[in-house]
Amino acid sequence: MSPAFIMFFGPPGCGKGTQAKKVTDELPLVQISTGELFRKHLGEKTPLGLEAQKYMSQGALVPDEITIGMVRERLEEPDCHNGAIFDGFPRTGDQALALDNLLAEMNSKLHMVVDFELPIEISRQRLMARQEGRTDDKPEVIEKRLNDHAAIEASVMPHYHAHKGLVKTVDANRPIDVIYQDVMALIKPLVG
Ligand code: ADP
Repeated sequence: MSPAFIMFFGPPGCGKGTQAKKVTDELPLVQISTGELFRKHLGEKTPLGLEAQKYMSQGALVPDEITIGMVRERLEEPDCHNGAIFDGFPRTGDQALALDNLLAEMNSKLHMVVDFELPIEISRQRLMARQEGRTDDKPEVIEKRLNDHAAIEASVMPHYHAHKGLVKTVDANRPIDVIYQDVMALIKPLVG
């Protein structure tokens, strides 16, 4: 079976990272979370991590060149051979184009976009309650990330909506396990 590449989209706090983790525990896919990759680099104090932190701590996007290069490297690792779930990537139109190109170089493509829908007010409540010690979970940075989400959506989603049937929506304002059932029903048929 050829690899399956899936993108999870949604506002901060929509639970896409949680769902991606659950899916990758059960199916032979890897989670590629650009936020987590940046945090891992920062933890290891790599030059990339220290550079990314300048942007992340402000709630700003890390420049495309850095982000795309990091995803390219990650995709070259052998554990991606069955496919991946992109979580938090792409966030710009150029990242979306770059992802298409990266997957085309692998003779593959993006097979599905799962759009996690959540009212902004619920998103705000969840982030305010989140206690993971992330430096970007401060109230003013949370507000910026929430405000920027609409622009991110506008720059990324039209690219995918142009492909009929590619985007599947999931109501993210429900319990984790209920959402997970819907997510698995969508993804399982794509994975051998
Ligand atoms: P959340 O979705 O909860 O905001 P993430 O862990 O996905 O958190 O991302 C945290 C931060 O990492 C973002 O605010 C941004 O600074 C940086 N980041 C993550 N993914 C990208 C990306 N694709 N492009 C640019 N910056 C990114």
